Amino acid sequence: MRNLSVSYQRDATSLSLGNIDLDIAAGERLAIIGESGSGKSTLALAIAGLLPPTAAVRGAILWSGQPPRGGHDIGFVFQDASASLDPVMAVGRQIAEVARTHLDLSWAQAQGRALDLLRRVRLPDPDTALHAYPHQLSGGQRQRVAIAAAIAAGPRLLIADEATSALDTIVQADIVALIRQLVAEDGMALLFVSHDIALAAELADRIAVFRNGEMVELGVADAVIQTPRHAYTRRLLDAHIGLDAAPMIVPTERGHV
Ligand code: ADP
Ligand code: MG
Repeated sequence: MRNLSVSYQRDATSLSLGNIDLDIAAGERLAIIGESGSGKSTLALAIAGLLPPTAAVRGAILWSGQPPRGGHDIGFVFQDASASLDPVMAVGRQIAEVARTHLDLSWAQAQGRALDLLRRVRLPDPDTALHAYPHQLSGGQRQRVAIAAAIAAGPRLLIADEATSALDTIVQADIVALIRQLVAEDGMALLFVSHDIALAAELADRIAVFRNGEMVELGVADAVIQTPRHAYTRRLLDAHIGLDAAPMIVPTERGHV
C-alpha cells in the first residue's frame, strides 16, 4: 500500500483511512489491530477491492509493484460465515465452485478438491459435510467451511477480518491454530485483522496498530507487545490485561520474522 487513503464521505477531508504505507511480504503474517472504527476493515476491503462504490480511494495498492490482477490472489474470511456462504447450497458445492471458477478443473476434480479442503480444515466427517447445508453446521464449523472456500483457489494472501471474533474462546483458539497451520503449509501471506491484541500476538510476525484511520505503530510482534512505543498501544495492552489476567500475551513459538 502506497499512500493509501479512503474516505466514505463526499467531503474527502474526512478520511476513514489516511496515507497508509504498508508492505506485506510473501508468506508474512501481519496483524492489524485497533478498536472498533479505527479503519481495519476499510484497509482489508481496500486491499481485496471489495469497498463499496461510495468509498473514494486514493493512493495505490500494488502486487510486486504491479496493479492487482484480481481473481484468486486473495482469499477473504469475514467475521460472520453467513456473509460468504450461500444458505441454500451444499457447502461442498460452494467450495468446489470457488475452485472451478479460478482454477482450470473439471467438476469432479473440483469436488475432490472440496473434500480435501474439508479434511484440511478438520471438519468432522468430511464426506457427509460435503453435502451439508450451512445451517446444519455449528458456528465454528461454518467458519471452517468459509476458510476452506477462501483458500480453495490457492490465494497468495489470506485476509481474515475478525474471523474468530464471533466465536467462543475455545473455538476461537482452534480456528487461530487452524489458520496458522494453513498459511504455513501453503506459504500464504496472512493479514489478520482483530481488535484483540492477544490473538494478534499469538499469530503474527508483525503487528500494525490503527487508531482513527491512522497507523500509529508498526513493528515485530514481540517488540510491539513487550515494548510498545505508542501510548495507544499501551492502552490496548492494559485494557486486555485488565479484562483477562491470563498470560495469553506471552509470545509463543514463532517462525522466522
Ligand atoms: P474497523 O473495522 O476498525 O471497526 P471500519 O474500517 O469498519 O473500522 O470503519 C472505519 C470508519 O469508516 C468508521 O468511522 C466507519 O463508520 C466508517 N465506515 C466504514 N464503512 C463504511 C461505509 N460503508 N460507509 C460509510 N462509512 C463507513
Ligand atoms: Mg471491522
